[in-house]
Parts: sequence; structure tokens; C-alpha cells
Amino acid sequence: MTEISSLIASIACKCPRCGEGDLFNTGLSNLTLRDACDKCGLDLKKNDSADGPAVFLIFVLGAALVPMALIFENLVAPPLWVHAVLWGTIALAVTIGSLKPIKSLVIGIQYRHRPADWE
Ligand SMILES: [Zn+2]
Repeated sequence: MTEISSLIASIACKCPRCGEGDLFNTGLSNLTLRDACDKCGLDLKKNDSADGPAVFLIFVLGAALVPMALIFENLVAPPLWVHAVLWGTIALAVTIGSLKPIKSLVIGIQYRHRPADWE
């Protein structure tokens, strides 16, 4: 795979080697990585993304949401409970929606740039 198609496959939660197998289990445990790719057999237990995706998400969300909340406060000046509900909901939705693609992206980057870890 080219570097771009590898990146796209990673964001789509697909295997970084073949781009076809799913990285995550389905059903209730859909946040859990599979042990191996069901298409090419890549051992996914060798990934070492650890807390990287969560930390990356915290930095990006914090840098994006705090200025948006400050601008919203200056323009609209809503009651505090509106801020709590609005920004809490947005933060939760963005976190839940993007954690798997970001974890998958980190795994894809590690696969591309640290190939010795996967042998
Ligand atoms: Zn694969």
C-alpha cells in the first residue's frame, strides 16, 4: 500500500498491512482490538499505542473546545448550565466518535515507521 492509502485505511479502522481486515471486534466489545487481522494474519497484539490516542485527543479537543466556549460566551452569554450541557455533550460525542479512528491511525503510523516492532 502507498503511504496515503495506508493512512486512509488506518482512519477507516482497517489493518495497516493489508487495508482490508478490521482492527476492532464487533458487538459489545467493539472498542477492543482483535488479536490478529482476519485477512492477512498481522499480529495486532504487538501494537504499542498505549495512552497515545487518548492524550492526542485530549490535546486537540482542549485546544479546540475551550476557545469555542469562550467565543460562545462572548457572543451569546448563556447561563452556565447551557455551557455544561453543550460542551459536555460535544466533548463526549467527539471523543466517542473519534477514539477508534485515532487509535487506528496511531497503530498505522507505528506500523509504517517502526516496522521492527511488528516482526
Ligand atoms: Zn491485514
